[in-house]
Amino acid sequence: MTNLQAQISELKDLLQQSTKTTVLTGAGISVASGIPDWEMMNNSFDFVSQDLLQRDPEAYFTEFHRLFIDPIINNGPSVAHQVLATLQQQKRIDGIVTTNIDFLHQFAGSTSVANIWSSININHCLDCGRIFDFEILRAPIPHCPVCGGLISPDPIFRHIATLPDAKAQADAWMTASDLTIVIGSNGYYSKTSSNQVVNINPKPNVFDKQSLLKITASADDALAELTNQLAL
Ligand SMILES: [Zn+2]
Repeated sequence: MTNLQAQISELKDLLQQSTKTTVLTGAGISVASGIPDWEMMNNSFDFVSQDLLQRDPEAYFTEFHRLFIDPIINNGPSVAHQVLATLQQQKRIDGIVTTNIDFLHQFAGSTSVANIWSSININHCLDCGRIFDFEILRAPIPHCPVCGGLISPDPIFRHIATLPDAKAQADAWMTASDLTIVIGSNGYYSKTSSNQVVNINPKPNVFDKQSLLKITASADDALAELTNQLAL
């Protein structure tokens, strides 16, 4: 048995003993879908700038599509997103809390997801205020079909501010759970179950100290092995 297999076996036991498990995900779960993490994206262009979006929509959306929307459309959810959706459908895990705005948990079929920084499935017309889902972002420069106004993805519109309702939902799930599985998170949201934390991340991170179990692997490798062991 490899080290990863032994660690996933331990995770499987914890999962089976848990009465309520909440999963916390960050950029690491979307790397395999080709989505750059926060710092990489910001190094490339001022991704969170509503000013840039309004000043030069063509430049903004060209980069936004290249770095973000194209990988979502072309690659879709990662193995890890898909395994979590299956685990949720089978009631082996409960809510999923994410700081990711890519909406890939829902594209994989998950339903109980707290998008605490909102997501690209909410988009505002900057002129009339109407809201549109992800589909409108397929246009090279998205405009409102009703009034012609420029469209802004909600996370950019808010400058990645926390959504109070989603944060309250996330906190409630964490408080009620006896196990938290943290996957690829840098700790931008850091509340976990006070009981047990399993931390899946190939690198050291802020959850290491409080983790009962640290699994040093990518999200896809770890959850593919969990799939094998649970015979999903
Ligand atoms: Zn409009």
